[in-house]
Amino acid sequence: MDYKLAVRDNHPEDTVIDIPGKSGITRIGKGYCTIIAGPCAVESRDKYLEIAMQVKNMGAHILRGGAFKPRTSPYSFAGLGIEGLKILEEARDITGLPVITELMDIRDLEQVCRYSDIIQIGSRNMQNFSLLREVGRVNKPIMVKRGLAATIEEWLLAAEYVLCEGNEKVILCERGIRTFEVMTRNTVDIGAVALLKDLSHLPIIVDPSHATGKRHLVKPVAMAAVAAGADGLMIEVHQNPEEALSDGPQSLTPELFISVLDNLKGIAALNNRIFQ
Ligand code: PEP
Ligand code: MN
Repeated sequence: MDYKLAVRDNHPEDTVIDIPGKSGITRIGKGYCTIIAGPCAVESRDKYLEIAMQVKNMGAHILRGGAFKPRTSPYSFAGLGIEGLKILEEARDITGLPVITELMDIRDLEQVCRYSDIIQIGSRNMQNFSLLREVGRVNKPIMVKRGLAATIEEWLLAAEYVLCEGNEKVILCERGIRTFEVMTRNTVDIGAVALLKDLSHLPIIVDPSHATGKRHLVKPVAMAAVAAGADGLMIEVHQNPEEALSDGPQSLTPELFISVLDNLKGIAALNNRIFQ
């Protein structure tokens, strides 16, 4: 196997990633249950700042929001671009929380690095090898989402691309894979979480929103993920999901988000995980 830097053989200790922010250090990895929350996309300044404050007050540790959105149709809302990054920066200042956003194109690397604390490589780019090598050369944590139909081995090799360029701050994110099943948007692979906690030292986050595509399935899948050993979750939350410009059906209302967090605290405690 060629994923020698991603596995435990030469790195028995769990990797813990420290993300410095205005209100201290946020940790991802061993012993922590880190919650990343926010809307699918940054839609406007006012809406983003409002939801950012709401999820922060409810207990989120990191803010999410796409400025460059990979959309299946070229006619769908594709994000606000640089304007979206600037809104994320403002939200980071106001809330004191670190932010994560997706990088789709090497040409945007400098700007995304400037405004974001963690760089997300989306499922569609998990095998964009030149992009992976490029983010392997920056000093920022990189979250590598599992490809739409990627095996665990292909996913680990994608992480290896980043690691072998010298960037040790890699986070894996299980977000469901495409199978014959169509009642859920994707098929979430909880077994992969347990397997990777054993095989790899890298932290693993689960995204129950893209994994299911359905709001009412987010809570049970989130609980299963933490019970299986996930180091945290990335959850889409929108103040008015009916009007969201992307992924409304899987976005939680703030009220539902509180209820998911309440349930998660119990599971995290059972697993001796710190909810920061
Ligand atoms: C996202 O998290 O914003 C996203 C587009 O997810 P994925 O790459 O998993 O489809
Ligand atoms: Mn989304």
